[in-house]
Amino acid sequence: MTAPVVELRGLSRRFGAVEAARAVTLDLRPGEIHALIGPNGAGKSTLIGLTAGSLRPDAGSVLLGGEDVTRLDAVGRARKGLGRTFQVSSLAMELTVLENALLGAVGRSGQVMRLFRSALCDRDLALLARAALERVGLVEEADRRTADLSHGQRRLLEVAVALTLEPRAFLMDEPMAGLGAEGSRRLTGFLDRLREEAPILLVEHDMDAVFAIADRISVLCYGEIIATGTAEDIRRDPRVRIAYLGD
Ligand code: ADP
Ligand code: MG
Repeated sequence: MTAPVVELRGLSRRFGAVEAARAVTLDLRPGEIHALIGPNGAGKSTLIGLTAGSLRPDAGSVLLGGEDVTRLDAVGRARKGLGRTFQVSSLAMELTVLENALLGAVGRSGQVMRLFRSALCDRDLALLARAALERVGLVEEADRRTADLSHGQRRLLEVAVALTLEPRAFLMDEPMAGLGAEGSRRLTGFLDRLREEAPILLVEHDMDAVFAIADRISVLCYGEIIATGTAEDIRRDPRVRIAYLGD
């Protein structure tokens, strides 16, 4: 078996009395989409935060390409190649679409604000940012104010920002939310191709999308993984049916 790109080993995190992650172990392998599903409050966003480094674990570790990155914060992990999108938008609304994409590209260097001005004049970064916008179908909106985009376009811009990092792995928290049928279909097709460049840990509510594109699915329930397997395995798993699929 090829070595995983990302490994989570025994990650735990409490918020007061809530055990949002309970000794979660999973991996993300080259070329795959590994979906994370589970009811509201199951701990999906917590797990993305623990992986990305925006949340600290109480126990456990995160490995990227075999290297332990648990001590690194989110910026440190982004620089090592972990790209992410947020459930709640992280875009700077007053900036243009291209400027937001550039912020993603600059983020690679780690010195975000200091380098931002010069980045606006940096042709390579600007090309990278434009290429990312092109790929998600937003290049024609490059000079618009981000606040003036539709909700769906902002979701796509989040993906473009992550793309400019040229990550080794993607962490995506509900990228289809609010996209509508056509937008979801397009983004699903895009993620389907994107996995060849870097594997994707995908939190998604849209079960049709998950069952259509995920290579493996892990089911979270009260902070714990209750099953991991292919779409077929998951559909058949009695614990999953009871806990999540509602029969
Ligand atoms: P999901 O993304 O699966 O809906 P979350 O990871 O957002 O779930 O939340 C998991 C649990 O942890 C929930 O009970 C939630 O209320 C709690 N939780 C998440 N973040 C915080 C926080 N910053 N402070 C307190 N409780 C939190
Ligand atoms: Mg969430």
